[in-house]
Formats: sequence, C-alpha cells, structure tokens
Amino acid sequence: MERFTARAVVVGDRAGSVIPDAVVDVEDGLIRWVGPAAEAPDAGDAQVTVLPGVLTPGLVNTHSHAPMVLFRGQGEGLPLDRWLREVMWPREARLTPEDVEVAMTAASAEMLRHGVTASVEMYFHPERIAAAVTETGARAVIANPLIGLPGFGSFDEQLDTALRLAAGAAGDGLVEYGIGPHSAYTVPLPVLTQAAEAARKHDLLLTVHVAETATEGDELLATHGLSVPSLLAAHDVLGGRVLGAHCVHMDDGDLELWREYDVAVAHCPGSNTKLASGTARLRDMLDQGIRVGMGTDGPASNDNLDLFEDLRLAAQLARLRERDATALTAPEAFWLASGAAAAAIGREDLGQLTTGRRADLVHVDSEDIAFVPVGDALDLVTHLVWSVGSRHVRDTWVAGRQVVRDGVSTTVDEAALRADVQARAMRLAGR
Ligand SMILES: [Zn+2]
Repeated sequence: MERFTARAVVVGDRAGSVIPDAVVDVEDGLIRWVGPAAEAPDAGDAQVTVLPGVLTPGLVNTHSHAPMVLFRGQGEGLPLDRWLREVMWPREARLTPEDVEVAMTAASAEMLRHGVTASVEMYFHPERIAAAVTETGARAVIANPLIGLPGFGSFDEQLDTALRLAAGAAGDGLVEYGIGPHSAYTVPLPVLTQAAEAARKHDLLLTVHVAETATEGDELLATHGLSVPSLLAAHDVLGGRVLGAHCVHMDDGDLELWREYDVAVAHCPGSNTKLASGTARLRDMLDQGIRVGMGTDGPASNDNLDLFEDLRLAAQLARLRERDATALTAPEAFWLASGAAAAAIGREDLGQLTTGRRADLVHVDSEDIAFVPVGDALDLVTHLVWSVGSRHVRDTWVAGRQVVRDGVSTTVDEAALRADVQARAMRLAGR
C-alpha cells in the first residue's frame, strides 16, 4: 500500500467537497481509503508520500483528437472550408500510422502534465493511439472513427475494427475501445443505427459530433424534416453509452430528447469559441439532469489540450450567456472536468477521489500567490477554477503509478518527441 498525505483533497463532486489535512491510501491501482488524517486507519508498513499541495482527481477529457498536435496552429485565420481543403485534408492524406503514434505519445504526455489522466480519443489508427498511451501511462477510451474517407476502408470494415479491438482489450481500465461515427451529416443513417446497436450490445461508448455548427444539419432537415437529434432518435441511435460532442445548436425539443435517452454531452467551449460555432446551453443541460463533461476537442481547433482553460471558459461563457454570475459555480466548473466528465463517458470508476475508484491523482502546487487567501476549504476550489491553472500541476499518478514528477514525464522523453513531431509536421505539410 502507498499512503499520500496532502494539504487538502478536492474530491471532484458536484458540491465541491474538500477534505483538509487529508490522507489517500492506494493499493493495486485503486483508492482504498480517503479522509481526514486524524481519522486515517493505521498505515502499517505503507510507503508514505508527503505532498505539500492539493490533491485532485485526474481530469477526464471527454472529447479529443489528440494526434492532431501535428497540425496545431496550421492554417490560422483561414475560413473553415479553405482550412479543410488547403491545410487539413492534404496533410491527413499523407498521415502514416507512425505519425499518429508519435503525435499521440507527445500529446498524451502534454495532457498528463496538465493533470488530464484520461481522454476520449476519436482518430485514425486506434491501435497506435493505444500503444502511445500505454507508453506514457495514461488512460484512454479510443473510439475508432467511422468516416467515409479514401484509404480508411468501408464503414463495415471500420465497425468491425472497432468491435475486434474492443473484444481484445485488456480489461484493466487503462485502454478501452469505443465506436466513433463522425456525425449524422458524414455517416449514412443506417450505419449509425448499426453502430449504435453494436455499442449497446457490447456496452461500448458511442461518440458522435452533434449540432456543432448552426448549419451542419440543414441538408438533413431539408431531406428528413427533422433536427439531427430527432433524426438520431428516430433511427434508434440514442440509448446506451451515447456521448454527443459539442451539442451547441440544440432547441428545447432536442434537449428533451437528450434527457429522455440519457445522452451525455462533451462540452468543448475552447473549440466552439475559436471556430465561432456558438455557445452551448450548459445551464439548461445541467438543470435538466443531462450528463455533461468537459472536452478540449482536437488541438488543431482549440489549440491546446489544457482542460483547466476549458473549464474556466465554460464558467465564463455560461455566466455571460445567462447574464448571471451564479449561472455556473466554481465547484460545478471543476466537477465538469472531473466527476461529471467521468459520468458523461460512463466511467464511474474515474473522476473523483473516493474509496473504490481508480487512483488517478494530481498534485497541484498550492505554495503560490494564486492560491491565496484561503479562509475556508471551498476557497481552494474557487482558486483552482479562477486563478490556478495547469502551470501549477506538479505530479500526476495513473492507477497509482507516477507518470509526471515535478512537471516532467517519468515515462517518455518529451524533448525528443517534440523534435519528432516537428519533423513529421513539416513532412506532412509538404515542406
Ligand atoms: Zn471533434
């Protein structure tokens, strides 16, 4: 057993619970006990790690295409259609499996350094994404994309790949596979129905982009007379572990469907603001009991993988949208990237520091003016959301294994990866 002592534990629940002067006992990758030091069981011969700062749960990024670190910042300032045609598609056409693995390894190390211990990835070459997170020590739910692009096989083949990978997963909770049909406007509806049936049958996460832009559903609406959410419901896509990414342009009826079918939302305000997609109805979603978790989206449209920035932006935008400074509380904002994010992806074993969950821990340095003053315990959560950021993350553990020590990866050489990503990005750009 290993015992961690900390100035405080931030649990990652909706109430913003904080345990001052706390102890976390970890064994076999699981949290065995959490509570005040004064009530802790006898440590026995446990190895004790004394942490001067605040321990939080590892954050959960519910929507990412992290290997796109290869394209970060490229085509800045272009409108979407030119960005896709002139920048993204020519590069992705040259992408090799090795490119994906190297880029994912670098991106995964970056996320761990930012306190993000698990991410939902939707990108090509899922086995290479798995190899990358196995190397860095992170967790991932890897949704094999279903998308009609030359060189990536038929939809049937893509679905078969997702199911084959899911059947072969180790079951240790580190790498899980899901199904990632890109969207209702790029994937035929019968394929979506088939993918959803398979996801329900095997209890897999099905994640799909929904209502990201105001116009993406126009053609479907003209053809079928239904909004994208209604169309998904009508084609038996909803139900089970369904996670809609973005869900920005949702009317009352769409939200009602999400509530009825318990569809979760990956809320990506960084991407939605950069691409001018719009502001999701976060307060309405939470009031209706819809599960929501924070996502960064890909680093070509955010441009970073820093969930601390997104959770702060979520609070800022919710308050602006509602013209109400209470529209999203600081505890709620932190919960959206921790406990709520885990619930949104159907992984109740993650996202909170409570007994029985996986020991994914983040040590945040609280010896900084950004953490002052502290009058009561809740101030720690307030500072975490408003003034502290990923720059204060010192150490990260996944399943009790330390993967970041004093701001540096313990598993991979980040400088070498940076140089490798640079060289590959230039080759993909044709330079
Ligand atoms: Zn996306």
